[in-house]
Amino acid sequence: MSDDNLNQDQDQNQENSQNENIWTEEQLRVLEAAGLPTEAEPEEDRKPTRDAVAAAFREELKHANEPGAKVMSADRELRYCLELQQKRIANRSLRFTDEMVPGAYFQEGFNNVRSWQDGQYETSWSVGFVEHTKTFDRPNMKPYKKKEPQAIYETVVDVRSGEDVSDDTYCCPNCGSVSTIRELQEGCSHCGTAFKMSELYPKVTNYFFTYDTHGKRDPIKKTIIKYGLYSLPVMIPLMVGVAWYQRHTMPETYGSFTPMILIRYVLGTILISPLIGYFMWMFSIFAAAGRQIGTGTGPALSVGRSRKKFEAKMSKIMPAYTFETFSSRITSLFKLIAFSDDRASLPFYEGGDIGSEFDNVVDCAFSGWMSCNKIKQEGKYVYVTGNLFVDVTRDLGDHIKSQREVYRIKAGRRTDVPTTSNFSIAKIQCRTCGASFNSFKTRNCPYCGSASEPASDDWVIYEVKNAGQTYMLKPLIIVLAILVLIMLGGLSTLGIIK
Ligand SMILES: [Zn+2]
Ligand SMILES: [Zn+2]
Repeated sequence: MSDDNLNQDQDQNQENSQNENIWTEEQLRVLEAAGLPTEAEPEEDRKPTRDAVAAAFREELKHANEPGAKVMSADRELRYCLELQQKRIANRSLRFTDEMVPGAYFQEGFNNVRSWQDGQYETSWSVGFVEHTKTFDRPNMKPYKKKEPQAIYETVVDVRSGEDVSDDTYCCPNCGSVSTIRELQEGCSHCGTAFKMSELYPKVTNYFFTYDTHGKRDPIKKTIIKYGLYSLPVMIPLMVGVAWYQRHTMPETYGSFTPMILIRYVLGTILISPLIGYFMWMFSIFAAAGRQIGTGTGPALSVGRSRKKFEAKMSKIMPAYTFETFSSRITSLFKLIAFSDDRASLPFYEGGDIGSEFDNVVDCAFSGWMSCNKIKQEGKYVYVTGNLFVDVTRDLGDHIKSQREVYRIKAGRRTDVPTTSNFSIAKIQCRTCGASFNSFKTRNCPYCGSASEPASDDWVIYEVKNAGQTYMLKPLIIVLAILVLIMLGGLSTLGIIK
């Protein structure tokens, strides 16, 4: 990543969006690290609807934990995730509050900050800045509170073309009552009949929060110099110490330690301080993306390459399929597995018994990072293996613990079933007993127990495994190598090594 790249990115950003002033250099760097494309803005016709959905989601999310809440601005997977999470929290007798108040730099939704297009869908990111407070409480437990200035990113998926049928009416084939298509998304309200229908886009399919690094709006040069100056109280004594040590132990090689030498070293250190500043600043960016250096650097380095790799490989197998669509679907499926109390009945899970690994998870947030390690085609199937980075909050009985966790996920889907954006609706009926139930939520008929036909046009999860810290090894070696090179460069500039 050179500064030229960054400037281009920023110029394009300024042209494309009147909200360019919301992006600090640092945030642009984070976006760069995530490998985000900087395409031109798409056609505007459906934009107001998308903006409305993004704004509605932020509002609905605050109340998602209230009994009976349905987050209708979310797609059906994400909606079900939130439902299961609400149930999990209630079952553990926890009191949970999730507050978002407009942050210091808040403007009502920065929609279409970045967007991607595939054959049928338009995926965009909507960003808002909030003061986010989360609390968990229960008698006899240490209360948990986390308050942080954050940016909320929402992935909004929309069809690129196609008619809006949500206000069309439909006659329930079971009870004959007439409802709008929109009202039928969660089934017929009169008789409970469930329908298999196309998603009524636009919908929010994924969301995540990042620490808001606002207040650092300086240009890069200024930032680097600032970071360099911060390093001086440590670097000057260090460099002078090295010089003093050399001249005292080997005066015949270096000459004696004179005030002139002292001045030379102090000035030299100040001169190379922007270099040290640049290095420190790079680190702070990864840290901002992952909140801490330890958790941010690894994903930042591996995700940037993943997007390109995924799109290059997938374009040959299933044309027009973006990494954004993939990672948001996998995140939802992962969360459903984590929050489900009956994993064997999940229609999209084909993996082994996970045991109690996720039983105490009370919150699980996508971190914004997903890497893609392997793509393999076998017959009519394509299999993708990747690392999903999530911020997991667990209920440990006497206290609540929140930490970054990494899961290796193997997912697959058929390649011979085309995706279509044409609207369709059909009553879901058990093949054995004729009862209607939501086959998206459960594999087996709740009335007679027989298994329903699995969906053939969506991703199936074959494996979920805690990846520990293994993903860090490669990036760590790269960072260490860069560190060593910069140190060597700095030392040879000062003539300490020749
Ligand atoms: Zn009905
Ligand atoms: Zn049945």
